[in-house]
Amino acid sequence: MAENTTAMAQNFIHDFIDEDLAAGGAYEGKRVHTRFPPEPNGYLHIGHAKAIYVDFGTAAKYGGICNLRMDDTNPTKEDEEYVDAIKEDIHWLGYDWEDRFYFASDYFEEMYRFAVELIRAGKAYVCQLTPEELSANRGDINTPAVSPYRDRPIEESLDLFQRMRAGEFPDGAMTLRAKIDLASGNFNLRDPALYRIKHMAHHRTGNDWCIYPMYDFAHPLEDALEGITHSLCTMEFEAHRPLYDWVVENVSIPYHKPRQIEFARLGINYTVMSKRKLRQLVEEGKVSGWDDPRMPTLCGMRRRGYTPASIRAFSEQIGVAKADSTVEYSFLEHCLRADLDDTARRVMAVLRPVKCTITNYPEGQSETFVLDDHPKHPEMGTHTVTFSRNLYIEAEDFMEEPVKKYKRLSPNGLECRLRGAYIIRCTGCVRDENGNVTEVLCEYDPNSRGGDPADGRKIRGAAIHWVDAATAVDAEVRLYDNLFSDPEPDAAGKNFMDCLNPDSLEVLTGCKVEAALADAQFPESYQFMRQGYFCVDNRDSRPDALVFNRAVSLKDSFKAGK
Ligand code: ATP
Ligand code: MG
Repeated sequence: MAENTTAMAQNFIHDFIDEDLAAGGAYEGKRVHTRFPPEPNGYLHIGHAKAIYVDFGTAAKYGGICNLRMDDTNPTKEDEEYVDAIKEDIHWLGYDWEDRFYFASDYFEEMYRFAVELIRAGKAYVCQLTPEELSANRGDINTPAVSPYRDRPIEESLDLFQRMRAGEFPDGAMTLRAKIDLASGNFNLRDPALYRIKHMAHHRTGNDWCIYPMYDFAHPLEDALEGITHSLCTMEFEAHRPLYDWVVENVSIPYHKPRQIEFARLGINYTVMSKRKLRQLVEEGKVSGWDDPRMPTLCGMRRRGYTPASIRAFSEQIGVAKADSTVEYSFLEHCLRADLDDTARRVMAVLRPVKCTITNYPEGQSETFVLDDHPKHPEMGTHTVTFSRNLYIEAEDFMEEPVKKYKRLSPNGLECRLRGAYIIRCTGCVRDENGNVTEVLCEYDPNSRGGDPADGRKIRGAAIHWVDAATAVDAEVRLYDNLFSDPEPDAAGKNFMDCLNPDSLEVLTGCKVEAALADAQFPESYQFMRQGYFCVDNRDSRPDALVFNRAVSLKDSFKAGK
């Protein structure tokens, strides 16, 4: 576990665990043991980060342990590619399962044995209703479900189940069902399917199996086999809990009952959070891949410049509750900003450059300024920037005819400060034949050297950033906005694919960054003064063709208490 892992505040899950530990009994002398059980059918997203935080964080809070288990009982979309990516993302977040890494598919043989055990005990039977007949026979709240196969002899079910395994029947021809209660008000207990036939290769077991256990049968077995004490999952499993309990109570695993506790899924506005939908965005080319910096995937967020600490802080601060709620995307950004404000080096980069000539600065002369890397952390050190007659400034920092209250450069006599360098005054500009400004002309005050208030002069104009044209490095900068323009792309009645924001990516080329950034390395983030926090793109950037991603702007739109 990373040393900087945030301590977890008490929540209702911990209250339940405290109750269990206090009651002793089956929990006597037990270490709290949780698990994180992703299905390896896609990349992890920020919703999973919450579950990881809850699973690993809860174990850590109690000095317990947490397993990582690939829940790979459904061969349809599972793949080894995802297994490695999932491990990488969890490690990146700062959590470690040590030697407790499991595959649910490793238990297939045991699961089969437990199923046979249930049949022998008269608690499961092979049902030959087709999927259509099954749903036609589910009954409703007033009518019990029906299965004509429920009372078939145990021997017959044993024989059929063995032949199901041997591959004698096609997909959908039969299922193994638990014999619980066809009239239950909880439809999950109306003789739920435990096994189905699926002639499909599995990413690990290949063609060894053509029957696969259902989640509701497999999951409690996995938990019980691993000695999990508390199985933390999301709310949609609440109504499945009686079935979970039924399974562990009716198989011969010499272990007390793991307790399932449900908590609310994380939803965030302006994005979608299901692997299926994220996959669709990738497959239809709406994004450049699972790690597109606009994606809510952990690999996308990492590439964008999110830090593990900011995601842990986010997970802690959103809290853990039973009631669903949608968290503002701006809160996620707020957490990143709070982290980077403290840790990112300050540098200067001009994103939309225009030349600026200091006409009274001698040609051929140059000097250096030593700037602090961080205004509040002298221990982070300093870096050097050069200064000469030819600079680049931000095009929007000049206006020939200033609008009201414009505090930047214009030929109206207002003094501005070049950050860390000199006070300048604009004298005019040069335009090309189309009327576009190609050069801003300024004069500097040689007595103002020494950077911000060192000379004690108060000026009315803004402090603007700049880079020396002689040493500036070219870069591409990618600015991101919400992937969706609709705050609720997932809401009922909407097709999320219709809610995409056409302006979610803006690519700026020909940006000019200060020389120190030539060595910038992912994943270090920098504050580009007045612009936001930026990080080298770990996929597309090259030493001779730098690419930066804007992780987040400086302006905080999150309002506490909103
Ligand atoms: P998806 O719909 O994105 O595929 P899932 O629940 O099917 O999600 P799994 O890989 O099965 O994904 O999830 C692993 C764990 O992460 C589960 O315990 C699940 O409850 C949890 N989880 C998934 N999405 C969220 C979310 N949005 N908020 C909190 N926990 C989540
Ligand atoms: Mg799933």
